Amino acid sequence: MTERRTVLIRYDEIGLKGRNRKFFEKCLLRNIKRVLSGTDDIDYRSPRGRIFLDIPSSFAPECTARLKTVPGIASFSIGISMAPDFDAISVLGIQWIEPRLESSGNSLKFCVKTRRSEKSFPKTSPEVNFEVGSRIMKQLSSRGLTVNIKEAEYVLEIEIGSSETVVFDNREPGLRGLPVGSSGNVLCLLSGGIDSPVSAFMMACRGCRVHFVFFDNQPFLGRGGYDKVLSLAKKINHFQARGILFVVPFQDIQGAIRDRCNEENRVVLYRRMMYRIAGEIAGRYSFMALVTGESLGQVASQTLENLAAVSCVTSLSVFQPLIGMNKESIISRAKEIGTYEVSIVPQPDCCSVFMPKNPVTRSKIPFLERDEEKIPWKELCDDALAKMEIIKVDDL
Ligand code: ATP
Ligand code: MG
Repeated sequence: MTERRTVLIRYDEIGLKGRNRKFFEKCLLRNIKRVLSGTDDIDYRSPRGRIFLDIPSSFAPECTARLKTVPGIASFSIGISMAPDFDAISVLGIQWIEPRLESSGNSLKFCVKTRRSEKSFPKTSPEVNFEVGSRIMKQLSSRGLTVNIKEAEYVLEIEIGSSETVVFDNREPGLRGLPVGSSGNVLCLLSGGIDSPVSAFMMACRGCRVHFVFFDNQPFLGRGGYDKVLSLAKKINHFQARGILFVVPFQDIQGAIRDRCNEENRVVLYRRMMYRIAGEIAGRYSFMALVTGESLGQVASQTLENLAAVSCVTSLSVFQPLIGMNKESIISRAKEIGTYEVSIVPQPDCCSVFMPKNPVTRSKIPFLERDEEKIPWKELCDDALAKMEIIKVDDL
């Protein structure tokens, strides 16, 4: 059997993009080449509507794992390229089906599914299914193989394109969404918690390159939060590359709010300062929006009133991809993307230190502004920005 394999990659929504399609395809191909870099023996082809890779068969498991980290892929299959010759395809099908038939106690329902993007091919898809299926049945029906289209336990798939025909029997789901880089840059407020890493990931799957800002309170909270955020940023960056992490010292701001402002407003006031600083960073780097991990009503600071009282301090769009999700689904997402284990390492959050006994749930903007007049917030923001650490996440 051949030592090469063909990977057939199907894209997700790029297909809807009309005249921009080429741009989206290029983005996706660039991202695929990046995750597979370091392996030179790969040939890339992108006929209309598909991306094909030609890889050494020994690389198939690793290639599968890496393609599963690329947003924009709907699904992919690893198979063999061959001439659209029914005898040869049947021989290959028999080779693949025989061991399955044995391991399932000589009883297996199967079918052949053909997709033809080359419409000039002389046979229709049902005719190809019949030609290949009947050849395989001739050999294997006496050993327990039956044809069952609706309940097939084994599907042999044939894709006939203009330049090549690929035969395969597997489909791996991809991350779906859009390729990173196709939408632009955004800045995610990344805490060490469960939620914000999930929202960063969701924006990466909408084609954004996500950068991160962490408001750090080391003197009060120690280094744990910082280390967690480095590790979370690295995990998210795995899906995109080239993210930047900004670490902003937050202790002076928090101290000023604690000492001078109304206790019940603290959390909302911290948040307003975070959004202002994030907005300033976004402006400097031309990032187009802020992203946070809020979910409506999850905690006191996430009421409609408080969310509005926070997002009004910036003119940028603020995206909260988790806004309509419950905690359980956020947690299962975090587990899928591998951030959950890091997020649950115990570490007090900077918004939970000096937590007021009765945090305001329906804050009024004029009261918040009056509180802010008691502190030199502009100077505090400038000072924090001047001391900010800038980390290229690829280098971590
Ligand atoms: P998370 O699990 O993301 O921390 P949470 O449910 O704990 O979210 P909050 O602590 O209320 O929610 O924070 C709401 C959002 O504010 C976070 O999702 C995050 O985007 C941002 N945020 C909170 N604390 C910080 C911080 N120290 N640095 C950066 N962003 C933060
Ligand atoms: Mg938190």
